[in-house]
Amino acid sequence: MTPTVIIACPDYAEKTVHKRMTDLLEPLGGMGRFIMQGERVLLKPNMLSASPPERCVTTHPEVVRAAARLVLDSGGIPFIGDSPGLDGFRSVAERTGMEQVAQELSIEIRELDCPVPLTMAAGSVFQKVFVSSHAVEADKIINLPKLKTHAQMMLTLGVKNLFGTVVRKAKAEWHYNVGLHRDTFSDLHLDIAKSLAPALTILDGIDGMEGHGPGNGKPRHFGLLAASCDPLDLDFRICTMLGADLHSFPLYRSALRRNLHPDLKKPAEGDFPADFAFENVDIPKLDSLHLLPSFLDGFGKRFFTSRPVQDRNKCVRCGKCASICPADAMKLDENGIIAIDYEKCIRCYCCQEVCPVDAISFSKGLVLRALDFLKI
Ligand code: SF4
Ligand code: SF4
Repeated sequence: MTPTVIIACPDYAEKTVHKRMTDLLEPLGGMGRFIMQGERVLLKPNMLSASPPERCVTTHPEVVRAAARLVLDSGGIPFIGDSPGLDGFRSVAERTGMEQVAQELSIEIRELDCPVPLTMAAGSVFQKVFVSSHAVEADKIINLPKLKTHAQMMLTLGVKNLFGTVVRKAKAEWHYNVGLHRDTFSDLHLDIAKSLAPALTILDGIDGMEGHGPGNGKPRHFGLLAASCDPLDLDFRICTMLGADLHSFPLYRSALRRNLHPDLKKPAEGDFPADFAFENVDIPKLDSLHLLPSFLDGFGKRFFTSRPVQDRNKCVRCGKCASICPADAMKLDENGIIAIDYEKCIRCYCCQEVCPVDAISFSKGLVLRALDFLKI
């Protein structure tokens, strides 16, 4: 038996999601297999920004509600938590519908703050990573990612969702320190996921996002829920179903290099056809710096990567892009016009991620356009 189950779920009606999530967990032994009486259980949805559920930026509140109810039924004490990148936690909780779920079920919802050192799993590449104490101190974690594309890392699914336990500004610092090297950044995500070791990952793939994810892509109906004891196994199966090339997925390359890749030969459990592939999913095409040795990063950044550009007609002058920029490469003048210092810019895509109106796009330079033209 594989650790992953994938089933169909047509919509977010409360009863439907609860029934289908119960069905989803049955082959894995049910929620009761993972949660003991009295355990404090962190439900970790994707709460990237203060966006309503229909934008598909965040995990749908009905998925969080169903998971919380199953934990309660198993005798656990669930609480909802995340550390949004930029928007205030209370406004994120309210806009995403999480606050309402917490109130209706009388459970706690809290910001994942108070960074503490994470005890790193054996074989980790990174030895010093700080995450929220609320994640470390929870008896169990149930990871509740959203199915989304990601302009920098191709996809954000189970493993990447746990990077959300890194507290606020520290995320931007990691982007600054390792974000230019996608495979190293994936190593970090992998280390955090292995070290936090969530009891269960349940993916909200009913409506997901394609294109300019994780913040500004297009919603797309996929009609699935997936669960796994191993978020890596889940991520790679979903990557394949989306028609994306596994070897282009930085997380897969990291897992392969570290001999952590799961055996994907056996089909996943569940009623979703094992060989099903979605057609024409808009998956971001990643620029590559890996063609060059690291001492040529500056050269590679200039000629082989796309660079951020602002659409002044769309911009609403909120300043979020300049606030999040980990390289301090953006300056917003009093007219709302952004000046970008491309020498400082590390191409981390944070500005695109937080822009509420999709006013930042990444423009390919001459060399990349030529490579595209030659289909290299
Ligand atoms: S300008 Fe955008 S892509 Fe460049 S470092 Fe700043 S946030 Fe990252
Ligand atoms: S580009 Fe986007 S994030 Fe930056 S100021 Fe304009 S609207 Fe805000």
